[in-house]
Amino acid sequence: MKIGLMFRDISTSLFQRPVTERYPYERKGTPNRLRGKLKWNLESCTGCGLCGLDCPANAIQVHVLDRKEKRFILEYHADRCTFCAQCVHSCRQGCIDLSNTDWELAALDGDVFRFIFGVQANVDEFLVGESSADTESPTSE
Ligand code: SF4
Ligand code: SF4
Repeated sequence: MKIGLMFRDISTSLFQRPVTERYPYERKGTPNRLRGKLKWNLESCTGCGLCGLDCPANAIQVHVLDRKEKRFILEYHADRCTFCAQCVHSCRQGCIDLSNTDWELAALDGDVFRFIFGVQANVDEFLVGESSADTESPTSE
């Protein structure tokens, strides 16, 4: 680099504002097509499980508590999700979308990446069943 050019760059840099963004103190709007955390619309869900079957990252499990009463739980693992949107395309009912505003998912604790969606009473029932299964002895001799 020529010495003159170098001094020009240095002097320009001295008087210019930094181009880096002061995230997270300053936030810009996100693009419409940004793919963030999964959103699920329980009302239209039929519990078919296609979203989970088609997910290449095994990030979705659909739990059917009672098909007749439409008691479904959707378990979503954001730490496995590749945000490919296959689930959005697979769901014929249009129940799944990826948020373009809820995307700041970084965390130190892995447990926070697991989301259980559903009616609260159903979620509670599911979690109770899950914890009692955990406490059962895996083998009996
Ligand atoms: S966006 Fe892709 S990886 Fe994430 S849950 Fe949907 S299908 Fe799975
Ligand atoms: S594909 Fe759609 S309708 Fe089927 S279980 Fe998933 S969210 Fe529900």
